[in-house]
Amino acid sequence: MGDKIIKFQILADSDGYVTFQCPYCSNTFKLRVDECQEDEVIEFFCPYCGLADEPSSFLNNEIIQLAMDKAENYFIDILNGFSKNLDRSFRGNKMIKVKTNKIPKKGEKEVFEVDSEEVISELKCCSRHIKTTISAKESGLICPYCGVR
Ligand SMILES: [Zn+2]
Ligand SMILES: [Zn+2]
Repeated sequence: MGDKIIKFQILADSDGYVTFQCPYCSNTFKLRVDECQEDEVIEFFCPYCGLADEPSSFLNNEIIQLAMDKAENYFIDILNGFSKNLDRSFRGNKMIKVKTNKIPKKGEKEVFEVDSEEVISELKCCSRHIKTTISAKESGLICPYCGVR
């Protein structure tokens, strides 16, 4: 079994934004897919509490759950293939009876972004964009890319 990358797609909202969630304060914000996937982005600052962590820590729970379901289904496939082989190798053997049951796969819930009452702010410091609720914008945002308020 070699390394296999489990691919899944995160669907952006109609403006091309995906949701992130701060691991510290649990508040959510949206960043533009093309801007937040650039290689030089090695950490995010929470636009609300200002704490920084690696981008993967900011993935929201739904996306993590989806990734885990995908990984689990991948291993269920391997196990099911293995028990089929086991069945086959002992078929006709009177001494050993193998009974294998197929493991049911988990349903993979795709993550869809819903458009909500949010506004886009331009981050002049990094010429990038962020989408938050209107009240969050009014109370002042910290740039998730450079940490400047
Ligand atoms: Zn935060
Ligand atoms: Zn910035």
